[in-house]
Amino acid sequence: MKPMGPIPPEFAAQQGALTVGGRRAAEWLAGRDGPVFVYDPAIMQARVARFRAAFAGVDLHYAIKANPFPPLLAAMAQWVDGFDVASSGELARVAGLGRPISFAGPGKRDAELTAAIRARVTINLESEGEAQRALAIAGALGITPRLAVRVNPDVELRGSGMKMGGRPSPFGIDADRVPALVRAILSAGADWRGFHIYAGSQALDAQAIVDTQGATVALAARLAEAAGAMPPLVNLGGGFGVPYFAGDRALDIDHVGAALAETLAERPAILGDSRFAIELGRWLVAEAGVYLARIVDRKESGGETFLILDGGLNHQLAASGNFGTVVRRNYPLALADAMGAEGTQTVSVVGPLCTPLDRLGDRVALPPARVGDAVAIFLAGAYGATASPSAFLGHDPAAEVMAEMIDPIARP
Ligand SMILES: *Cc1c(COP(=O)(O)O)cnc(C)c1O
Repeated sequence: MKPMGPIPPEFAAQQGALTVGGRRAAEWLAGRDGPVFVYDPAIMQARVARFRAAFAGVDLHYAIKANPFPPLLAAMAQWVDGFDVASSGELARVAGLGRPISFAGPGKRDAELTAAIRARVTINLESEGEAQRALAIAGALGITPRLAVRVNPDVELRGSGMKMGGRPSPFGIDADRVPALVRAILSAGADWRGFHIYAGSQALDAQAIVDTQGATVALAARLAEAAGAMPPLVNLGGGFGVPYFAGDRALDIDHVGAALAETLAERPAILGDSRFAIELGRWLVAEAGVYLARIVDRKESGGETFLILDGGLNHQLAASGNFGTVVRRNYPLALADAMGAEGTQTVSVVGPLCTPLDRLGDRVALPPARVGDAVAIFLAGAYGATASPSAFLGHDPAAEVMAEMIDPIARP
């Protein structure tokens, strides 16, 4: 038997039939010919509220690549201060939602820069070449472009699942070349919006984030001094992780928020009038999503029991361990109608694809399961449907639905 990660608190407390957004798994699956991702807005809203309590005065941006499902974006628009996008396709999804947008990502094509400049979106510049193209396009359009500089920081986020700073990188501009670029942007007459400094992702160690944020504020101050200009906004990145695996513990964001408040209270004068933002993806949405699939077959082989689902890595690649993890470990999963029941049988939960990679639960302990039962895989709200190879093996894509907003306190 191998351990599973922790079920998110809103679901771990349930006994018997799992409900997501007030409805049972069977209701969500009824009338469908395959799996479904269900997203609970009340859980997202609770995460936003926790952020607000911990980070008073700091802007909250949602990085939509974590989950760009349109109804989810519409809900998020009510709660966050801005959206961060990384393609013109993502831009189109949030353009009508009435929130400020910033656009990061290497390799922005001319058509994407044009769309962003027309829509008055802040472009987080990833290179000097991109800056030149953006200025030329804006000049031709007769629009003053909003430009920020993404810095390839000389700090990195310790314990981060994905390191994106402190080394040669396709992301951002090396810190020592940033002041010259800021001066060039200002002298070209553009609307310089400040810095974007993103040092990593999926960190659960609060002190590592505290240290990175402290170094990021200091770096922003140093670059601003060298450029001789006050940045209107310093986007401090994010990197807040969620517990996916056995032994993972939830990030203590109150500790991070208290330390950032101290750092900002003592910040250098050059940042005196700057605003600060944190951009989060998975921390806001991962725990709010559940992937529900049905058991199509149950078989024995070589002494092992397999539960075969009607969906697998084609829908939820991350749970198979093939999305940015080095060692495969089990996401939390459960038999949807037996929450809280003891796991008396060791089974491997697999998808229907003809590849041994399609394993969603490796020798996990579950209550007795039969063909037709629903299995819930948790932490499916981020990097699920749009981060999985849904065309692989020709199965239909999974459905996605947003639950209604139900007051979590009033739930059964
Ligand atoms: C992917 C990404 C994010 C979101 O990362 P999470 O780990 O989901 O919070 C935020 N900012 C940038 C620049 C990114 O590339």
